[in-house]
Amino acid sequence: MSIRGIDQFDVAGKVVFVRSDLNVPLEAGQITDDGRIRASVPTIENLRSRGARVVILAHLGRPKGEPDAKNSLAPAATRLGEILKCEVPLASDVCGDSAATVIGHLNDGEVAMLENVRFDPRETSKATDQRRELASEWAKLGDLYVSDGFGVVHRDQASVTELAAALPHAAGLLVKAEVEVFAKVLGQPDRPYVVVLGGSKVSDKLKVIENLISNVDRLIIGGGMCFTFLAALGKSVGSSLLETEQIENVKNILQTAKTVGVEIILPVDVVIADKFAADANTQIVSVDDIPDGWMGLDIGPKTIDIFQAKLGDAKTIVWNGPMGVFEMAAFATGTKAVAEAMTKNSGMTVVGGGDSAAAVRLLKVDESKFSHISTGGGASLEFLEGKSLPGISVLEDN
Ligand code: ADP
Ligand code: MG
Repeated sequence: MSIRGIDQFDVAGKVVFVRSDLNVPLEAGQITDDGRIRASVPTIENLRSRGARVVILAHLGRPKGEPDAKNSLAPAATRLGEILKCEVPLASDVCGDSAATVIGHLNDGEVAMLENVRFDPRETSKATDQRRELASEWAKLGDLYVSDGFGVVHRDQASVTELAAALPHAAGLLVKAEVEVFAKVLGQPDRPYVVVLGGSKVSDKLKVIENLISNVDRLIIGGGMCFTFLAALGKSVGSSLLETEQIENVKNILQTAKTVGVEIILPVDVVIADKFAADANTQIVSVDDIPDGWMGLDIGPKTIDIFQAKLGDAKTIVWNGPMGVFEMAAFATGTKAVAEAMTKNSGMTVVGGGDSAAAVRLLKVDESKFSHISTGGGASLEFLEGKSLPGISVLEDN
């Protein structure tokens, strides 16, 4: 099975649909972070420079299957036009008269956008025939399909799966890069292979652990989920995040790790706080001494040393989930230390997870020093869980 890249298409004079992820944050109609738009540019530029007539499909926010001015793609079309230094006309509908007119007026090398695909209820319909119907309306207006929105490839949606099935298709540069990275880390990573997991809940990451445990050499666990592990080892965790109903699962994981010879590395000390707040009173304590009424909100300094040492000789590192409540400066040290240890590692370093990627940006860690920062939080998690993603499977051809 292989996935075609855009270079394998002759695109000159063709109408090429590109499904991008332009779901940018807006405040009062203004884009507050245009990262996703900038990330979509290389594929669009590539196609344009080769004479394609590029038609962008994207969603923004969570409209309820009908037009909704506050989720219009207009700010994204304007911003994209500024970056590309050309007009990017926006059709006023998803696949109606305006879309047909805008596409009909495109010349080779020009770019247009259709309105938010989620303004049409068929985009996210549970009924396959509904999604197929919308896709076939688009397919009549174009020649080729390029999947470039990694943030949506785990979704069964008309602009992601059905349209890909209806037209000759390829992966855009973003999706191609993501697929190659995950294939490598899930297949035959260079060793030692270390996975760092954190974030809030074990229950969110259980499938990831189960899928990776037979392939990793070391599993480092921090963040809120470490407290369920510590509780499984009989420690009291005060009022830290604890999922009591997961303790049995965690005991099983610890047992499996022992059986298959995977080292699980847990914190030895933590930063505790007397409330969940930026101005809480804090202390650093051993994981054996967490007092009642206090909660662990970051890993401690001894733990940072251990984690850094365990990352030092790794040849592949995958990181998913912050080590602490990095949104508050007082609890961001552990997350920043792990991120920086990755930037100093010369092996393959991959960040997967929406909040982990956000932490890298917020904590001003040099993004260029990672091998790969995934652009799709949910999609990267499902990849790590070993699921097959519908928007990727549909691109595979023999
Ligand atoms: P990702 O999106 O990278 O997969 P998650 O969504 O699983 O990560 O988790 C991110 C959240 O976990 C962050 O909002 C962070 O504040 C929270 N978190 C990390 N450590 C703790 C902790 N010790 N207690 C409570 N929340 C935590
Ligand atoms: Mg998250």
